[in-house]
Amino acid sequence: VDIFNTHFELKESGTDVAILPVGSIEQHTRHLPLGTDSIIAWHVSRRVSRALEEEGCEHYLLPPVVFATSLEHKGFVGTVTLKPPTLAMVIKDIVTCLYEHGFRIVFVLNFHGGNFILKPTVREINYDNPGRKVVLLDGWDAVPPAEMEGLFETPDLHSGESETSVMLAIDEKLVREERVDFVPEDARPVLDMYSFKEVTPEGVWGVPSKASKEKGERYLELKVKYTVKAVLRWIRRCREHPAY
Ligand SMILES: [Zn+2]
Repeated sequence: VDIFNTHFELKESGTDVAILPVGSIEQHTRHLPLGTDSIIAWHVSRRVSRALEEEGCEHYLLPPVVFATSLEHKGFVGTVTLKPPTLAMVIKDIVTCLYEHGFRIVFVLNFHGGNFILKPTVREINYDNPGRKVVLLDGWDAVPPAEMEGLFETPDLHSGESETSVMLAIDEKLVREERVDFVPEDARPVLDMYSFKEVTPEGVWGVPSKASKEKGERYLELKVKYTVKAVLRWIRRCREHPAY
């Protein structure tokens, strides 16, 4: 069940599980669109949703929260960022509303590495509201490292080999031809102080020239498979211990 259904149909499904994807609107250098994370979030979540339905797992799939925290991309036109406490409030309000309408388990599927505030937010909701279960799953961490072996040649922080491959697999037309590779000498914490603008003039952190549609398809398959596994495992766990 999703937002293309009626509220009657949602009610009839009897589900108390909701899935909330989170993306971002931020620069993705020359070859990927501003909405990349939100496009990936919606694509992967719909595939996860279909697979869960095939497993007989009813749920309510929400559309992605597209505005999130992209402070590190400020200075590039088109980027829109919320402040971290704003995103926390958005998540809290959505979860409260879902809970008031009978949902007991809410999955937050994150697809943007800069949404650090999600972790403490989820913890706060769960510890302040016994019985409420919000599970944070990271779309990029779902796949076990052993399965990833040999898939990508280079590490990707932003618009690099893996993200570009995934976008090629979703829709080749979304990926522009011109690709600039750039791996800064800095380590990731530099982004706590400086925007991408300062660290990588083109806004890329990775090697997009190594991307391919085939790699993206393989990665998406793994991502969907392991996210579904995780969702089913957490639902079982939450049902076994509904209150604490
Ligand atoms: Zn991205």
